[in-house]
Amino acid sequence: MRRRRSSGAFFFPFFPFFRFFLLFRLRTVRILIVEDEPKTAAYAKKGLTEHGFVVDIAANGVDGRHLALSSDYDLVVLDIMLPGADGWTVLREIRGKKQTPVLFLTARDDVADRVKGLELGADDYLVKPFAFSELLARVRSVLRRGPKQAGETLKIGDLEIEPRRRRVSRGDKKIDLTAKEYALLDYLVRNAGEVLSRTLIAEHVWDMNFDSDTNVVDVAMRRLRAKVDDPFEVKLIRTIRGVGYLLEGPAA
Ligand code: CA
Repeated sequence: MRRRRSSGAFFFPFFPFFRFFLLFRLRTVRILIVEDEPKTAAYAKKGLTEHGFVVDIAANGVDGRHLALSSDYDLVVLDIMLPGADGWTVLREIRGKKQTPVLFLTARDDVADRVKGLELGADDYLVKPFAFSELLARVRSVLRRGPKQAGETLKIGDLEIEPRRRRVSRGDKKIDLTAKEYALLDYLVRNAGEVLSRTLIAEHVWDMNFDSDTNVVDVAMRRLRAKVDDPFEVKLIRTIRGVGYLLEGPAA
């Protein structure tokens, strides 16, 4: 695997570092934690502050909603079980007015809760209790993705993606993707026209570090292509030998 990488691929891993540098060093990243359990809130705040974030805490849903709507945060970490207004209500109201990324905390490992949160427009979730390293990884991952664009439809050729509903189609044909396949396609589409290294893809879609086996990317890409490209005459995803992948529309 490693021997086959060309010297060109060698430079790609540094791009995320550079983006990190821009995001975390050149300006303050502000995070709002809406959490009524003082211990959890203090634990998260302490760790995030140590990592250079500026953190505010709201101890109930009403204060959380007020701060989230009246101030510009880069991310809201939102507990669901809250006094005042619950997390679902707060999330709905934030999404009604703003595109601030939201990471919600769910007490149970409950699929229905997770689905509900993501459907209401949250960007990611974390199951409580969590280790600080997990929270930090999710926070960084959500910040890298940036704010959601409400109601936008992404189009490349006849390929259409509706991020809010995670709906994908080509022409009249609806395409069903797994969550990972969707995340992969979403990343390719948002970076259409750019050659993306396996390492970069692994880092964004799987949150894997550089030493992980990027073979996972090839396997997932094969599955994605079987659904998105193989049944169609015009292929959108290209393999760039020795580097990675590129998604682009047909030449006009
Ligand atoms: Ca709570």
